[in-house]
Amino acid sequence: MDPFSCRNTHVPGNEKVDELAKLALNQEIHDDKQVIWSDLKLKVNTHLEQVWQMDWDTEVDIKLHEMRPNLKERLNYDERLNRKQETVVSRLRIGHSWITHEYLLKGKQQPYCTACECPLTVKHI
Ligand SMILES: [Zn+2]
Repeated sequence: MDPFSCRNTHVPGNEKVDELAKLALNQEIHDDKQVIWSDLKLKVNTHLEQVWQMDWDTEVDIKLHEMRPNLKERLNYDERLNRKQETVVSRLRIGHSWITHEYLLKGKQQPYCTACECPLTVKHI
């Protein structure tokens, strides 16, 4: 496997990065120019976060994207919640509840809001 190829080839700039990385392999190495490990690590991590975010930005159809569009932002959990309460909050965040999804398990028709007749979803509620 080519170590310089990225999984997601449609991310803008990846081809250029690959090309430059391959060119760097043929460069003469000068011992007097050292890179500080922490600087390199920061640059690599920043680049990887940007590539990951660009990839994530294309995944708008999955529920988790709406919950956390910016990967740098952590989800807030209230440490006063017990395990069962955390589960309820997580299910609400991803839009899963018994009242909105029971129909899938029981083979019924999707429920609609009685007030406006829109599909009944957690977001709508
Ligand atoms: Zn409604």
